[in-house]
Amino acid sequence: RPLLIGITGGIGSGKSTVAKIFGILGIPLYSADDRAKWLMSNDQALKVELIKSFGEETFQKDGNLNRSYLAQTVFADPEKVKTINGLVHPAVGKDFEKWAKAQNAPYVLKEAALLFESGTANALDYVINVSSPLKIRVARVLGRDPHRNEEQINQIINQQLPDEKKNELADFVIKNVDNKLLIPQVLKIHEKLIVEVDH
Ligand code: ATP
Repeated sequence: RPLLIGITGGIGSGKSTVAKIFGILGIPLYSADDRAKWLMSNDQALKVELIKSFGEETFQKDGNLNRSYLAQTVFADPEKVKTINGLVHPAVGKDFEKWAKAQNAPYVLKEAALLFESGTANALDYVINVSSPLKIRVARVLGRDPHRNEEQINQIINQQLPDEKKNELADFVIKNVDNKLLIPQVLKIHEKLIVEVDH
């Protein structure tokens, strides 16, 4: 199988931007956050478990997730958040492994905002953290998502592990600051990983 590489970083750190650069090098990308949403509406075994835990209201009549119900009842209660994560994370983990085995590449990338927080980093060979100062991150998100204000962005940041902690836990750190070019940093990691696969 290819090496399994995680790519993470706080909101606005630039992890999607960095993942796109790896994409140009031909590296397959799995977006855990997008895939989790898809699995919640399409993986029958997971749907059954969600209904068992949170009731029929979890889904709309058309079978899609009832997002406002989940936001109000599940995501407002830390215990329920643990329960839903305990169902969704293993489903994403299995889905990712199956996907990764089918890829013809030296390594694959799993992009997730909460890779360390969720404990799913343990199943990966290496993790890259995209690191960026708080001020720049807030400014980037304000520019990208006009519907969000600074307070909402800070709330999300406070639910994530601090950047310094993630740098400690990561095997590679990419610094996404205005005076640092991203492409050379990506190429350096790419070369190391390719060499490791060749040996
Ligand atoms: P989220 O966790 O919210 O998905 P993210 O870590 O994936 O965020 P991106 O979407 O890659 O972050 O970047 C946030 C915004 O900042 C985007 O609009 C992106 O184009 C911009 N951006 C990121 N890095 C840079 C950079 N080095 N120079 C200029 N703009 C950048």
